[in-house]
Formats: sequence, structure tokens, C-alpha cells
Amino acid sequence: MAKKTWQVQKVRYCDHVGHEISIETEVIYPADQLPDPPRVVAHRCTDALACNAMDKATCVWCGTNPNHEPQ
Ligand code: SF4
Repeated sequence: MAKKTWQVQKVRYCDHVGHEISIETEVIYPADQLPDPPRVVAHRCTDALACNAMDKATCVWCGTNPNHEPQ
């Protein structure tokens, strides 16, 4: 049976919110009997909900500004 899980990709200080956040990736691991490699299907920021509630665009990780990707 395939397994879907969120994994921390990196932890960074974000100037926008003023503290550390985690960038996570959603990975699907295939069933043991399949030779397929794991697949990354999504990315997210742990503070994306708060940034989505703001009335201005923030960054790519919350989906409101594809032109700004904090490092
Ligand atoms: S969504 Fe973007 S701006 Fe908001 S905390 Fe995460 S990295 Fe920072």
C-alpha cells in the first residue's frame, strides 16, 4: 500500500512573520512491491494559513505571490 506523508524540507527565518518557519513537502512512497521512486506532490509553509489571511500578497509558499520565494 502506498504511503503519503509530509516531510520538513528546510527550516528558515522568515522576515515577513518574524520567526522561523518550516517548508514541507508532501511525498508519496509507492507500495513495497512497486519499483517506482517516491513522488513529491505538494509543498507548503507551516505559517501559510496566517499569511493567506493577510490582505496583501506574501509569497509562493502560501500561493498568493508566485513571484516571491523567500530563501
Ligand atoms: S507563507 Fe511565505 S511569507 Fe508566510 S511565513 Fe511562510 S515563507 Fe513566510
